[in-house]
This record gives sequence, structure tokens and C-alpha cells, in this order.
Amino acid sequence: MTRGIGGSNASAQLADLAPWTDRAPAITVEERLARIEKARRLMGENGVDALLVGAGASLRYFAGVPWGASERLVAMLLPRSGKPILVCPRFELGTLEADLAIEADLRLWEEDESPSELVADALRELGVVRLAVDPAMAFLFVDRIRKVAPSADIVDASAIVDGCRMQKSEAELALMRQAKAMTLEVQRRAALILQPGITATEVRRFIDEAHRALGSSGSSFCIVQFGRSTAFPHGLPGESILGEGDVVLIDTGCTIEGYHSDITRTYVFGAANDEQRRIWSLEQEAQQAAFDAVRPGVPCEAVDAAARKVLERGGLGPDYRLPGLPHRTGHGIGLSIHEPAYLVRGDKTPLAPGMCFSNEPMIVVPDRFGIRLEDHFYVTEEGAAWFTNPSPSIDAPFG
Ligand code: ZN
Ligand code: ZN
Repeated sequence: MTRGIGGSNASAQLADLAPWTDRAPAITVEERLARIEKARRLMGENGVDALLVGAGASLRYFAGVPWGASERLVAMLLPRSGKPILVCPRFELGTLEADLAIEADLRLWEEDESPSELVADALRELGVVRLAVDPAMAFLFVDRIRKVAPSADIVDASAIVDGCRMQKSEAELALMRQAKAMTLEVQRRAALILQPGITATEVRRFIDEAHRALGSSGSSFCIVQFGRSTAFPHGLPGESILGEGDVVLIDTGCTIEGYHSDITRTYVFGAANDEQRRIWSLEQEAQQAAFDAVRPGVPCEAVDAAARKVLERGGLGPDYRLPGLPHRTGHGIGLSIHEPAYLVRGDKTPLAPGMCFSNEPMIVVPDRFGIRLEDHFYVTEEGAAWFTNPSPSIDAPFG
């Protein structure tokens, strides 16, 4: 039997969990103001007069407001100088004041008024010619603003938003380190509760409760796959029941102050066969090769190429062909679970210190099983550094 798999149960593992003690501090106001200054510098370099950011990860990044986007416009208009302007429904004022981490000029709208008009008025007051808009903002909002402010030249703000968000500060790295350490602990305990007949739903419920017991708001997502469904990167619909000899793939995460974890572990419940061992070892080698390819200045796509080279040498692929790696090697991570840049052919973004990525060059053996080992790293001056140590072996996946 694989070490660290089975032998316990959910209630025993939950009873043993206490809130995380080594907690990373929240992002300070000073750091948010430095982000705003950086955005302003990038606006200057890109010939932009103002930046418009809608509710979502980027509004949280700059202003601390952790709201998701909805059909009601909530947005920050950041001019090159002067106070940021926040457009928000009036009935949300109390909540906004409680969440807002920076000083801003509030422009409030009633339910029967047009928030686009408020944005247009502000653009006129500020004399904005070129407005850069958060690429995550819904087309509907951008279209309405364009109609009431036809003279504004609206451009994509990716260079400004990504230019700020891609390289993480020490404080951001610390928050992600905490989130990822918590999720790895949850993964380790989830493996202990496995037994023949347990359902994927029971395991997902345990993982959510364990994430809560450690002090997060639960799983931000959770994929639990047994047997054949592991051959599909995001699983198959319907319930699965664990049986002896099944490959188990669990991919889950949580957030701390909005910063994401996202870790996958794959192992065999019972004795692994020769093919499962061979594929697991190739996966481990590909993950390590991707890690070893990281240096500041190297394009993102080179990391993906390094993982694929190992797989091709092992007779897999090439490219996206199966058996092999059907998707990119990894994604950027931060306040969004998937965010630029991406470890994929065609992404030539040069790696730079502070950038954070998943490293998950999954191997799919069609219709049989899949092996994904996913850990995350950040770029340093010297190369890459792991947030969580990779799985050491198929016989002792948690050491
Ligand atoms: Zn994942
Ligand atoms: Zn991922």
C-alpha cells in the first residue's frame, strides 16, 4: 500500500485541525498606493490619460474592494493625477466604505440612474482623451460608456493592469505561501481518509471543511477524480466511487486575502502497476524540467518547451497529442486563479522576479488514466523557488 493513503477518516482528521498560526499580514495601504503609482507610470508610458477598472480582481488589487462583477457597474476611474474616482450604487455606500482601502472621490448612482453617465461626466471633467479599460470588464459596460462618451479613445489596459499585477511583492508572496501551505496540508489529510467505496462528493466535502478548519473560507474549487475520469483534465460529470487500484487525482485550492492556492496530487489507491509508475515518473521529471528552465529574461514559452522535451523523450506527444500533455504547462496566479502570463508556446513574456506560476505538465493516457502533479513557483533573481515542495514519489506522495 502507498504510504500516507487511507488508514484514517474524515471526523478524526477534522478534529485534529486547528486554525493556521503562521498567518501572513494583509496588504497595507502604502502598498496599494505604490501599486497606483506604478499604474500611473505605466499609463504615462502607454500614452493613456485614465484607467478604468471594474469590480473583480483588479479592483481588489488597487482599492481593496473584494467584490465580484455583476450587472451593476462598480468601477474605479484612475486619472494620471488626483484622487481615484469610485462609481458605485448608492445603496452599497456603507459596504463600500467598510471595504475601501484607499481614499477616493465617490460618485454614487441610484437604481434608475445611469452609471455610464457618471463615468462620462468624470472623463469630461478630467479632459480624458485616451481611456484604458480593464480587459476583464464586461463588453456591455464598455459599450454603454462608449455611447455616452463618444469622443473618448478606449483602449485595452492589459499592459497597465498586467504590468502591475504580474510581479508580486514580498507581502503577496507571503499570502500565497500561506494559502498553498494550507492546501497541501488539506491534500495530505484528504489522502488519509480514502477507503474503498468513498465517493468523490464525500472527499470534496471533507476538503472544503478542512480548508475552513485551517482558517480560509473553504475550497475556492475542488476536483476529485477516481480511475478513468482522471484521463479528463477537469473530470467527468456524475458521482465516482473509489475502488482498489484506482488512480486518484485531487486538484483544489483556497484563498487568503484573495490570493489563491491551487495544488494537484495524483497517486494510486492500492498498488501501482508498471505503466502508472512509468507515467508518474515522467510527470515528475517534466515538472522538474519546467522548474529548472526558469531564469529571469527567459520567455514563458521556453518553460513549456522544457516540460514537453522530457515527455517527447519518453515517447509521448509531440505537442498536444495524446498520450501526452493536452494543455499548457502552467498559468500565472495571484488574485485570479488563472492570470497572465501563461507557460505556453506563443507567450513570449520574459520571466521576471516576483512572477508566480503553476507547474502542471499533466500526462493523459487516453481513456485510461491521467497523472497531474501541480505545484507553484515564483521567479527569483537566480531561477525558480517552490511555494510547496513537489510530491516525492508515487509510493509516498506526501513524503
Ligand atoms: Zn489546479
Ligand atoms: Zn492550476
